[in-house]
Amino acid sequence: MAFQDKTLKCKECGKDFVFTGGEQEFYAEKGFENEPARCRECRDVRRRSREGGDDRTAQREMHEAVCAECGVVTHVPFKPRNDRPIYCRDCFNARREQEEAHAQTAADN
Ligand SMILES: [Zn+2]
Ligand SMILES: [Zn+2]
Repeated sequence: MAFQDKTLKCKECGKDFVFTGGEQEFYAEKGFENEPARCRECRDVRRRSREGGDDRTAQREMHEAVCAECGVVTHVPFKPRNDRPIYCRDCFNARREQEEAHAQTAADN
């Protein structure tokens, strides 16, 4: 079944935004029943304020670690262990994508 782009109104800023077919497909795959109530911008703002401004996040103990991939200093919410390489967010995401790609390749064969 094909998903058509549709225009929704953001309840945060009141602007119209497009809920694309691709996003609808994603929502359907994840089993989300509600359409997004906010445009992408407002969602990003909320996500950022959750990550940065939340008291619990701020109080959570962060440990400094050096990324095993690119060497940048990063902060992780768990105590780094010597037997486990630590990756910064970028490298972690890149590696996860790579692993997913590998898994996909393996599944195809
Ligand atoms: Zn908005
Ligand atoms: Zn890195």
